[in-house]
Amino acid sequence: MTHVEALTCGVCGREFSPGEVTYTCPAHDGVGGSLDVRYEYDALAGAFDVPGTVEDLWAFAPLLPVDGEPVVSLGAGGTPLLDAPALSADLGVSVRVKDETGNPTGSSKDRGSAVAVTRARQRGRSVVSCASTGNAAASLAGYAARAGLDCRIFVPADLPEAKAVQPRVYGADVLAVEGDYEDASRVCHATATERGWYDCSAGVNPYMFEGKRTLGFELARDAADADWVAMAMGNGCSLAATWKGMAESDRLGLSDGTARFLGVQAEGASAIHDRFTDEWGDGAGETAADSIDVAAPHSAKRACCALADSGGDAVLVDDDAILRAQRRLGEHEGLFVEPASAATVAGVERALAAGVIDPADEVVVVATGTGLKDTRTAGRAAEGGRRVDVDSDPDTVPEF
Ligand SMILES: [Zn+2]
Repeated sequence: MTHVEALTCGVCGREFSPGEVTYTCPAHDGVGGSLDVRYEYDALAGAFDVPGTVEDLWAFAPLLPVDGEPVVSLGAGGTPLLDAPALSADLGVSVRVKDETGNPTGSSKDRGSAVAVTRARQRGRSVVSCASTGNAAASLAGYAARAGLDCRIFVPADLPEAKAVQPRVYGADVLAVEGDYEDASRVCHATATERGWYDCSAGVNPYMFEGKRTLGFELARDAADADWVAMAMGNGCSLAATWKGMAESDRLGLSDGTARFLGVQAEGASAIHDRFTDEWGDGAGETAADSIDVAAPHSAKRACCALADSGGDAVLVDDDAILRAQRRLGEHEGLFVEPASAATVAGVERALAAGVIDPADEVVVVATGTGLKDTRTAGRAAEGGRRVDVDSDPDTVPEF
């Protein structure tokens, strides 16, 4: 069935057999000991070929840690890779957009949720939970609903109301924890462990990460000529998982070579960038790009390894550049992405100016989430766009 060979601790290197441990390495507290899943690559090599059209991520089922059918599906993955001629002309480099905004709950988190919720159901779990402040919560709740499982989401108590709405529409219980994201994570994991719920939090559950590799599989297939893949980094999981998938495709002979990864962070949340470049900021701040507003990233080490292994780099961008990029993606290409996704475009511009990316390079930016979940911030990006109040008399409509 599943081709999982072992799980390896990223801190001490200890190996576990599948089933020996559910979450992180027991030698470390918290999420430091996230486990990396290793597959029987020799058994998979040559035994698997990706079909012509990827309908959804389950096209890659042999490379995913699930026990065959049935799987939980809402149609995540198989997302379009769009050319972006007007944006390319504006930036001065050839850019394409891997558009993840059309995933079922509006973000690339669905790739991880599909796998984790499938595992939960295959192992007889009836409740899934996670700590989150946004996309991951909505995604897990949506997939839990699809699978017929109960879902408990732990969020910081000061979470904007709008962000708690989508999980509740999917029928999840939203538990508002007094404190910050770290407090929510701690309470979530303690409660889930005690009550037998399946904790799907990033950095805790090793299999959430694995579903996100399918983004790398698709890029390896569809963007084989890319010199760079630009992704935003919050916890660092998504970039690290995408790199893992692309490197595995190369290893399995499913593609020829890999792209370099450009990790983009906001100036107000720069922990992974600082660690990678050894340029330490003041460590404090905030950003309008809420999805990457993470002070203590769970997967900083994994993300830094991915950047190094790919021959890539990391850049910082400020909120003005992010909001400008959000507007440019909208105006130039008809794409309404969240600020964290727009940060990639600002990051490419920054990397071009710094000589990291060459104007002759082929670049793919990954738009991981829709802009529709945070229209208040998008309103700032839209400032300057024309809005004219007219009354019911057509004669009052101005000339354009
Ligand atoms: Zn360990």
